[in-house]
Formats: sequence, structure tokens, C-alpha cells
Amino acid sequence: IRHLVWFRRDLRDFDQAALFHALGESASVYTVFVFDTTILAGLPRADRRVEFIWHCVAELKRALRASGGELLVRHGDPVELIPRLAQELGITAVYCNRDYEPLALRRDALVADRLAGLGIDFRQYKDQVIFERDDILTAAHHPYTVFTPYKNTWLKRLGQADLDSYPVRERLARLAPCPDEPMPSLAALGFEATDLGALNVVPGMDGGMALLEAFGQRIDRYKTLRDFPAKKGVSYLSVHLRFGTVSIRELARFAWNHGGEGAMCWLNELIWREFYQQLLWHFPQVASESFKPAYRDLVFPNDEEWFAAWCEGRTGYPLVDAAMRQLNGSGYMHNRLRMVTASFLVKDLLIDWRWGEHYFAEKLLDYDLASNNGGWQWAASTGCDAQPYFRIFNPVTQSEKFDPEGRFIRRYVPELAALDNKAIHAPWLANSLPVGFRLGRDYPAPLVDHAAQREAALALYQRAS
Ligand code: FAD
Repeated sequence: IRHLVWFRRDLRDFDQAALFHALGESASVYTVFVFDTTILAGLPRADRRVEFIWHCVAELKRALRASGGELLVRHGDPVELIPRLAQELGITAVYCNRDYEPLALRRDALVADRLAGLGIDFRQYKDQVIFERDDILTAAHHPYTVFTPYKNTWLKRLGQADLDSYPVRERLARLAPCPDEPMPSLAALGFEATDLGALNVVPGMDGGMALLEAFGQRIDRYKTLRDFPAKKGVSYLSVHLRFGTVSIRELARFAWNHGGEGAMCWLNELIWREFYQQLLWHFPQVASESFKPAYRDLVFPNDEEWFAAWCEGRTGYPLVDAAMRQLNGSGYMHNRLRMVTASFLVKDLLIDWRWGEHYFAEKLLDYDLASNNGGWQWAASTGCDAQPYFRIFNPVTQSEKFDPEGRFIRRYVPELAALDNKAIHAPWLANSLPVGFRLGRDYPAPLVDHAAQREAALALYQRAS
């Protein structure tokens, strides 16, 4: 019996459910990764994510080779390629881990269909979350739409077995030996190198492991530091969770065993991730419309010039601009700032949350449909268990509170570096500015007046409520 493991967003050779099960059920396991042309076609030619994945796949290939196997790497449409490869290799069953995004579900259904036509099984496993689909339901067997009761049930349900790793490595000798096969270069895939190497983002299992080890030293301070973007408070593991170069079981187990306020606060964030994943599974329509029906007809004015200013970090609100420049320059944005910039786009600039969601989707290295959509709908008040519409972040107060010395702003908006710790949050209100600095020339005057826009946003939401 020969099996084929199809790697997708689970690029590791340890604690990997599909790989574990395939190796348990066959002594001859092939592995494959497909650079999916249907996904790649819509991306810019220089895309940090593609380069990140390319390095992860290369590392995984080296690792599987070192264990006596070979990762076959293909470029094309998996709906065609996977059944064809399975047939060529004389495969009995294709194994992979579940992906809950609507497009992935459609792709997998097509693959399953074609395989069935060839008499080949398609077996899918839970891997990227601790609890999926219907694992956590209310007493009335409905999906949870409020986070806190979901979390409480999640924690109550959690047993040691949910956190145990799949002992894959002891089975790796069952990988089918294959002749070495070169991997297509980034250029052969139609992509250019980016600045990823210069960004201090280390791809692959090695990169994930290094971040986890470093974060382990800081986890006790997570709760107190996590909201301050100038401090190293968070884990930066999101991109590794996205591509599965770390294992969610390992992360949750680490937090659980470590215990204490910091670790529990961090576990809470991992549960938010699962909350949004199950929400997308149960309510796939959120991918394109408001979760709350009342807000499906919100009419946003959508000023294109304001949108461009937001994207480019020139709104005149220093914290917002610093955050957008962090995103553009690095593919990462701190969580506090994702909330601030999202709120600013929707409730200060009165622009449809989906415009912002798409922009983040293009730029974020850790882009994940469920979390990104959940975060945007939370900030826009259109989502389930979202911020109420009348709670509107004041971008200046947020700046004073979470970047009190302006350290983050100075890093990303160097033209404001000489302003004092008060003026840097709202230069247009300052009594005095540094000699030679002129607002409107050296840094934009504020694009909008927060107080006026706040009233306009309230009116817009009230009309829909
Ligand atoms: P840590 O603070 O170390 O948290 C650990 C992990 O918990 C994260 O890696 C992430 O997997 C999960 N997590 C943390 N906060 C959240 C949250 N609010 N919702 C869901 N999961 C969370 N996260 C993404 O992974 N991809 C996205 O595309 C994404 N888009 C977002 C858009 C908006 C508007 C908002 C408000 C949030 C978004 N988030 C997204 C959630 C969060 O901002 C990031 O997960 C976090 O900033 C990643 O940094 P970290 O790994 O250092 O997080």
C-alpha cells in the first residue's frame, strides 16, 4: 500500500496529523507540495509570503530527504496535479490536513471527487487547531457567537490528549525513497526575491522554533507588555502558525504547562484564533459580508484619496501612519495597531471595512482569512461579539496610552523624531514645534477632524441600526 501526503499549511515534519496517520498506515509514504497557480496568479510578482513559503518548502524538503524520503514539489493546479500524481505513483489514499477557508474547501471537494473517480481515498485530519468545526458547541448544539462562553467551554473540554504531539519522527523511516528531485526556483515560479531576508523574519521550522524559545523567556511579561508596540511583548509567531511551521499543540501545551497570568493571557489569544476559525466554518458568508445583518447595508462614502493616504501612512495621525508604515515595510503590524488602524479607516475615514481587509490581506505575512476577517469585523462593529458601534478609538488617546514616549512613532515616522513626547501624538495641537519643522510640509496636517468624523460615523451606524 502506498500513500501520498499533501502538504499545505502544515509545513513541518513533526507533530503533523496527516503525516502521522499516513505513516501509521503504510510503509511507503510519498509527500508532495503544490505551488498552486490559482492562488499565485493573483499575487504581485514580488511577494514576501511566496518567498517565505518557498524557504519553508525548501527546508521541509531537506528535512524529509535527511529522513530518507523526498518532497515532490509541483507548480500548477492541485485539482489536476494531485489526482494525476496519485495515479502515477499507484497511491491508495491521499492524506492532508483540513483547511476551513471557503476556497480551500471547494478545492478539496474537487480533489476528493476526482480521486474517488480513480478509486483513491481522500483522508483529512484536524491539525491546525485544537478544536475545529463542531467540537465546541453550545448546550443547544449551536455554534458559539460570543467569545467568553466559547472560551470557557474550550477550556473545559481541553484534555491532555488534545495537547499531545503526534510522534511523527519515529515513523519517518517509512517514507518512500525517491530519486532526488530539484525544486523549482522562485524565478521559475514567476516570482522575484523580496526584502524578506533583511527583515529578520526567519522562515521554516527553525525560524518558528527560535521564536518560540525566545518568547518562552518573555511569556510571563506578555500580559503587561502585549499592548505596547515599541516593546518586545508579543511572540511574533503568527506567520508560523499560518503556514504550520510550528504546531498549535506544542504552543498551547507550552502555555498550559507554563501557567501563570502571562501564559494564560497568551493562550486566550490562541483561543481567539480558534474562535474565528470555527466562525468561518459555520458562517462562511462572513468572508464577504457583515456577520450582523443590520450592518449589511451600511453606506460608506469611501473616499479614494483618503484610502490612499491611509494605505501609505500619511493621514497626519502619527500612530496610524507609523502602523501603516510598519505594515508596508515589514508585512507585520502589532495587534493593538491593527485595531487602531482598522477603527480609524472605518470610523474616522468612513471607508468600508472590506477595503481595509483586502489591503491587510495583500500586505500581511501572517494573513489568515478567519483572523483577518474576524479582526476587521470586530473593529467595524459588524462582526459577532464585536466592539459596539459607538465605541470609537480616539487615535490620539491610543497613541498617548500605548506609545507614551513616541518610541514606536519615531521608528517608523522619522520626520517626527524631533518632536517632544507630547507633541508627537498630535503635532497640530502642539504649542511649539521644533525650529524648522513645518506641519503640512514636513509631515501632513491631519486628514480629518476626529471629533467631527466620530459624529458622522455614529450617524452612519445609527441609520443602519
Ligand atoms: P501574539 O500576541 O503573540 O499572539 C499569539 C497568537 O495568537 C498569534 O500568533 C495569533 O495566531 C493568535 N492571535 C492573537 N491575537 C489574535 C486575535 N485578535 N485574533 C485571532 N488570533 C489572534 N492574525 C492573523 O494571524 N492573521 C491576520 O490576518 C490577522 N489580521 C488581523 C486584522 C485585524 C484588523 C485585527 C484587529 C487583528 C488581526 N489578527 C490577525 C490578529 C492579531 O493581530 C495577530 O494574530 C497578532 O498581532 C500576531 O502577532 P503575534 O503572533 O506576535 O501575536
